[in-house]
Amino acid sequence: MDFALLCTRVYTLFLLVLLYSPCMHVRSPIDLNPLNSILETPTEASVDYGRIIFNSPAAILRPKSPKDISLLLGFLSSSSSNKYLTVAARGAGHSIYGQAQASGGIVIEMDSLPSSIKIHRWGDGDKIISYADVSGGTLWIELLEESLKLGLAPRSWTDYLYLSIGGTLSNAGISGQAFKYGPQISNVLQLDIITGEGELVTCSPSKSSELFYAALGGLGQFGIITSARIILQEAPKKVTWVKAFYSDFDLFTKDQEMLISMPEKVDYVEGFIVLNEKNFHNSFAAFPSLDSMIPKLEKGILSEVYYCIEFTVYDYQPKDSNVKQVVEDISREMSYIPSLIYTVEVSYYDFLNRVSIEEKSLRERGMWDVSHPWLNILVPKSGIEEFKDLLLEIISPDQEFEGLILIYPLLRDKWATNTSAVLPESDEVVYIVGILRSANPSDRLSDILRENCRMAKAAAGNQAIRAKQYLPHYHSQEQWKEHFGSGWEQFAGRKLRFDPRNVLGPGQGIFPN
Ligand code: FAD
Repeated sequence: MDFALLCTRVYTLFLLVLLYSPCMHVRSPIDLNPLNSILETPTEASVDYGRIIFNSPAAILRPKSPKDISLLLGFLSSSSSNKYLTVAARGAGHSIYGQAQASGGIVIEMDSLPSSIKIHRWGDGDKIISYADVSGGTLWIELLEESLKLGLAPRSWTDYLYLSIGGTLSNAGISGQAFKYGPQISNVLQLDIITGEGELVTCSPSKSSELFYAALGGLGQFGIITSARIILQEAPKKVTWVKAFYSDFDLFTKDQEMLISMPEKVDYVEGFIVLNEKNFHNSFAAFPSLDSMIPKLEKGILSEVYYCIEFTVYDYQPKDSNVKQVVEDISREMSYIPSLIYTVEVSYYDFLNRVSIEEKSLRERGMWDVSHPWLNILVPKSGIEEFKDLLLEIISPDQEFEGLILIYPLLRDKWATNTSAVLPESDEVVYIVGILRSANPSDRLSDILRENCRMAKAAAGNQAIRAKQYLPHYHSQEQWKEHFGSGWEQFAGRKLRFDPRNVLGPGQGIFPN
């Protein structure tokens, strides 16, 4: 960008800032904003996947380079008249409760940064190290497609791939591979971050490490991630994908825990609670063998509520693979209902991108652009049975349930320490439970939110469960302090250091501006 253009942009920002000066009459900033190239009329930025909270920003920044972001934040932090102006990065906007919104502030659309994916490989033989340098607004699906061209792929995923790199790294990024490699935040070598004061810092575990760890799981509070260095590995050729059904919760969790204890054989483990037949269709839309399952379920082989384990074994060999044998060996050790096991073989790409099939089906049914009052809870192994009972007490299998319930174990020691992500305080095995509902019809929304609130409160407060929210959402700083527990001092101290004026991440509501 040339210097004259930069000056014009800074001047526009200055106008915007003046508009928000508390001692001036505040008019619509859009009327007076003369610089459409950088600050645009807010549109999508007040909407997210949740469709529950709609906060309009005053303006949108569409950065053409990290420097634009640095300029904005540097300018805001050097002026005394802008103390109410906040800034939120928006990745793919797939938050649920307005986390990427900035009421009356500025939203930075991260997808405007030129998408850049540079793949590096060095070393020989077994010692090859591969990684990708990716811009913060890039989607995981884009990284997958680019890296697969070289036979490589990231190790740790989310179930849905149309999420941004910066957005999931600001949370954790959890999927069925996390038991083996940790969440996505455990698979990052380096970050480029622009702090709340506009300073561009390259950080890693050995360089400016405090900022590196703060930003991982940092809920967008410490800086804007403009680039990340993600570990890659050889991509498998194919995936054998298995689903096995249970009516006994204890057997279900024992088998899940057995599967995560064999990382040398198993590559992915997830699971579902299936409340009723309708819920079954929602949970398995992407599984190719769905049609063969339905007749058995219609015969009522399963109890009212049942449980499904999903695991995979990756195949790296173009031929003569022993994967079939490996799957048979694993299955023999499991205690699912005899005859209720289904196995399919799919490409690695189709497996990772499986939720896009569900997305298509939901869009066709008009169920994608509705409110999504989701609740994600991390529950220590010692509390999972009690939590399941609580869940089934609050959400009766007889009620209309539009959505799905994910439940699978993770291993604490695969989580990088010192990040901002929060896990329950006890147990090596921690379950992630995702109660992913759509409000259909829309007047169900307030009931569902009430149920979520009851469940989250009971799960956190009950000493036998002691859960923590994942993708957390709270209404007061007191609740946030409780969420972080003994980590609050560190989190608040990092905020003071990297964003002392509380400019960043207002949608999270952690540090009221
Ligand atoms: P946004 O919603 O745009 O932003 C989220 C937060 O990160 C905001 O606070 C925002 O300000 C901040 N932020 C965004 N970009 C940056 C940046 N570059 N630098 C600093 N801060 C930034 N999560 C999982 O872990 N596992 C899953 O399997 C999974 N599946 C999902 C499936 C669906 C259909 C959906 C809608 C969500 C799913 N999620 C999952 C949740 C998802 O990881 C989070 O909602 C994530 O924040 C979405 O990324 P995003 O790019 O849309 O972020």
